[in-house]
Amino acid sequence: MPYICLHCGKEVKSLDKFIRCTYCGYRVLAKKRSQLAVTVSTD
Ligand SMILES: [Zn+2]
Repeated sequence: MPYICLHCGKEVKSLDKFIRCTYCGYRVLAKKRSQLAVTVSTD
């Protein structure tokens, strides 16, 4: 399930155990699903 980086807004695909923006390294992503963005913190 793809995610959207809340920092740079790019689409990030889920990685192995931790999810993290591959563009900027930001770790707060929103699930790209419905209009309701679910904030996910991987700390
Ligand atoms: Zn990013």
